[in-house]
Amino acid sequence: MSITRRDFLATSAVAAVGGTLARPALARILQGQPAQAVFTPIRRNVGFFTMRGGTIGYLMDPAAVVVVDSQFPPEGKACLDGLNERSKGRGVDFLINTHHHGDHTGGNISFRGAAKKVVAHVKADEHMRQPPGAQAPTDQLYPDTTFTETWNAEVGGERVRARHYGRAHTSGDAVITFERANVAHMGDLMFNQRHPVVDRAAGATLRGWMTVLDRAVADHANDTIYIYGHANTGLPVTGSSADLVGFRNYLGAVLAFVEAQVKAGRSREEVLAMRDPLKGFESYGRFGQANPRDVLTCAYEEVTS
Ligand SMILES: [Zn+2]
Repeated sequence: MSITRRDFLATSAVAAVGGTLARPALARILQGQPAQAVFTPIRRNVGFFTMRGGTIGYLMDPAAVVVVDSQFPPEGKACLDGLNERSKGRGVDFLINTHHHGDHTGGNISFRGAAKKVVAHVKADEHMRQPPGAQAPTDQLYPDTTFTETWNAEVGGERVRARHYGRAHTSGDAVITFERANVAHMGDLMFNQRHPVVDRAAGATLRGWMTVLDRAVADHANDTIYIYGHANTGLPVTGSSADLVGFRNYLGAVLAFVEAQVKAGRSREEVLAMRDPLKGFESYGRFGQANPRDVLTCAYEEVTS
């Protein structure tokens, strides 16, 4: 893939403020400006797109276009427009969803007529059609191809794999791997040094999540580049297996912390009122307000169930 001047400038502008995407994005949000569409190449025709919502991954080689996740409808459209401009309108061979959440699938509708196939784990498909605790969108482009463990495709010069390693952030998470580029999109299995959303209503489990991260690391090369669903302010949305291991250890530390509080006789209210950063994981910041999808609430319910 050739890097256009606009790509180069966008990437350089990002690099100039310290190799991060979130800081300029945050500044724009604070100034009330819309988020900017940015395409960032990683390697061998694979890159990532950021605007608003979970990070989108893409493959654009001379013979194929693959998109992983779709953000929200306007952002999905901006991504598709940018890819069409660069690929001379050759369309999208596969749109693959990492899981069902709206900030990753809301933009699917913008790919209607452009995406030849839409792929997701069977549970992600089910949850897109009937989201636990949420409203299904009135108009949506749903998956037409589902899998339970692994799905593969040879597309252009690349081999793409989607694999489910077990219940974690939801019960339908998949890691999408571009095998020849050696790049893997983790979806929301990876929050880079940021407290995660834990969707217990959709089958999430913190202990399962730790196992899934171990399995994902073991199933990839040492030098695989991973794309993350989200990152804390100022931190990158790509990185190495060291980040995955760090996040796995954080999940273990949250469970151990809550277990110790319960053993010490603290009530549910007392535990969920705790806000101070976790010792050893201060970069994640303070815990947020208790809610059904926050990490402390989910850890408490998992430890006491
Ligand atoms: Zn999610």
